[in-house]
Amino acid sequence: MSARDLPADEYRAVEILDRLKLRFLAPPPLVSTADWAGQYRYIAKGPERGLWRNERTPYLVEPMECASAFSPYERIVLMFATQLGKTEVLYNSIMQRIHTDPQDMMMVQPTLQDAQDHSGQRFLPTVQQTPVMQGLISVSRSRDESSSWRARSIQGGFAVFFGGANSASSLASKPLGFAVADEVNKWPADVDNQGPPLALLEERMSNFSRRKLVIASTPTVKGASVIGDEYLASDRRQYHVPCPHCGERQVLEWGTGQAWGIQWLKTPLGAARPETAVYVCRHCGAAIQEHCKPDMLANGIWIPQAPGAGRGRRAGFHLNKLYSPLGWRSWASLVEKWEAAQKSKNAGNSAPLKEFINSSLAEDWEEVGTGADSQALRNRAEDYEMGKVPRHGLLLVMGVDTQPDRLEARVWAFGRGEESWLVDRHIIYGDPNLDEGTEGSPWTRLTEVRRTPVLHASGSQVLIEATCIDTGGHNTHAVYNYCRHHARSNVLAVKGASQYGRPVLGRPSLIDITWRGKTMKGGVKVWQIGTDTAKHLLYGRMRLTQAGPGYVHVPKALSDTDEFEQMTAARLLPVVVQGKHSMRWITPQGKREEAGDGMVYAYAAACYLGIQSYREASWARREQRIAPQETDLFAQVTVISNDEAGEPVHTSALDQESAKDPAFANGIGPATPESTAPPPPAQSPARSSLPAPGGWRASLVRSLRQGS
Ligand SMILES: [Zn+2]
Repeated sequence: MSARDLPADEYRAVEILDRLKLRFLAPPPLVSTADWAGQYRYIAKGPERGLWRNERTPYLVEPMECASAFSPYERIVLMFATQLGKTEVLYNSIMQRIHTDPQDMMMVQPTLQDAQDHSGQRFLPTVQQTPVMQGLISVSRSRDESSSWRARSIQGGFAVFFGGANSASSLASKPLGFAVADEVNKWPADVDNQGPPLALLEERMSNFSRRKLVIASTPTVKGASVIGDEYLASDRRQYHVPCPHCGERQVLEWGTGQAWGIQWLKTPLGAARPETAVYVCRHCGAAIQEHCKPDMLANGIWIPQAPGAGRGRRAGFHLNKLYSPLGWRSWASLVEKWEAAQKSKNAGNSAPLKEFINSSLAEDWEEVGTGADSQALRNRAEDYEMGKVPRHGLLLVMGVDTQPDRLEARVWAFGRGEESWLVDRHIIYGDPNLDEGTEGSPWTRLTEVRRTPVLHASGSQVLIEATCIDTGGHNTHAVYNYCRHHARSNVLAVKGASQYGRPVLGRPSLIDITWRGKTMKGGVKVWQIGTDTAKHLLYGRMRLTQAGPGYVHVPKALSDTDEFEQMTAARLLPVVVQGKHSMRWITPQGKREEAGDGMVYAYAAACYLGIQSYREASWARREQRIAPQETDLFAQVTVISNDEAGEPVHTSALDQESAKDPAFANGIGPATPESTAPPPPAQSPARSSLPAPGGWRASLVRSLRQGS
């Protein structure tokens, strides 16, 4: 006898029993979430309305497979750009479980309000649009919707809970075997003094051996990015798609500053033409048109960068908007966004660029992006000797930072193209408030340092031509006093400008000084320094990787010290100044920066000597004086003739330079009126044009003998 032969109500009873058996007694079906979606899922709204098509978003198939009940993964991490369908992965995995594997589940949004919005405005319509879900979930649009959004009852007496990461009580529930954590980077670090909300959620799941947690978010700021950390701890899969020209698989990346990636044309006036955007293959260099994307996506594969991470239980997926299916977000519109963000950034507002990096490239924004890397400096430190000026250093200057118990001086050499070398550092202990010449005064030693010639690699000697001393510390008046006494030896009292964007070395102002009870009107010139401007320039130079113009050379001898950390202590950070977005160099509290300050002051001293207007002829003259190379005479003539042919000579610039550069003013090196100064380099007999016999050590001994 079959069910058809039964009276109507009995027939219904059997049918219901059969359905119940199917649902509750059968083991969870071995169908992946992706297959389930392709068969049952309907999209409620938008351009993709209708039955779910995996071929539209092939990159979502593997994440959904990993989220399926039978996969071995405990944690599935989706670090995605916005609007690539990651929330649909979450919904599909919940709905499939409601259908085939009912159990208590939870979806957590950043706030209770977000949770309510999802429950009422996204989840319910999605469920209602998907026919197979009919009758599996209570859709009571009744008066009690105000509370029922928190827990949607599903078949079998289970429920889908909606929680807010800002409410610990909303995360408290029965034990859970499945949960999704959405937009985790917007979650608070701590919820109601009970710790990180993600940890609270995991606690609810700890009793399930087959637990599964799906974590999704767009990135935010590096160092404070839950999704970034989760992805790093996962097996880090990236979607490799084949080039339609050469067939080589690759990850689609924006490719800033690279020969590959998104490229576009510009008008003759330099305006971007986003409509020309193409993807340039990193293997064959061919331009890939966007209409090739569906094929590329269909033939893409996820490749893990760290296979087996997290004992093989953490699958992570990273996807940017370059993969956006045709008809969603075009490469051209991304270029438009990028160009607008660059414009804002140049105007001091980096918020749109951060948004682009987060939402479109799905990368964490690195607030330290414009700092410099101390480890990189250490790695490329060179084997030159401290206290000796390398071959191409032709201008020697010093920057001095003052501390309550010491002076910290850095000696820098500059050469063509403002290439620079850290030549020496002097940490001189003593109370700067003690007068020069008295016992324990660090100033006495500083004067010695200033007046002692430094050996040049060519065998000649060079003097420090200008020194800048910071007046901003605790010893302002002591610095004023010292600088007043030595003003004629190019010793400058400097002070950081309070305003942003000032020139590295501004104009001096005459300051009254009070010293030991006596007041002198206009007693000292204090020079304003555009510290931010200088840091911008010097930090940029520290990031250069090839010796040449602007390159910063550092000696290996300082590798075991914190010199390089001090040189790179400041970070360019976004701040809001009087309601406007801006970027400022900020040194984290507690970080030492004497070396960085010394570098800025030394560069200001070089600016005082006019380095910013030096031309090849000026460097050639300096070289002729300090390190003449007869064999290079022909090459030198060539350089000069190039210089003259290449650009017109501005007499005024040269005049200005000659006036500022004491070496040119008197032709014999630093303009020092101090009688105790050693003979200037120009008169040094060691400055022979022939290689000095016995090398540079011997020539130093000879020159010292003759000079004294
Ligand atoms: Zn190719």
